[in-house]
Amino acid sequence: MTAPSEQKLVHCPTCGKPVLWSNQQRWRPFCSERCKLIDLGEWLDETHRIAGDTTASDGPDTDQQ
Ligand SMILES: [Zn+2]
Repeated sequence: MTAPSEQKLVHCPTCGKPVLWSNQQRWRPFCSERCKLIDLGEWLDETHRIAGDTTASDGPDTDQQ
């Protein structure tokens, strides 16, 4: 008997990408660490800081002599 592939596909809750459910996929059911962080809300905080820094530099935070 040939064993059927036990590969199972799930969909990333964040972006909807098909993710192979295996032990090698450490971020399952997410497709990546990024999507997992997005779901946790941690990544959004990081983006907010980057976006704010690019929009206006009214803070002498990065300008250090
Ligand atoms: Zn994803």
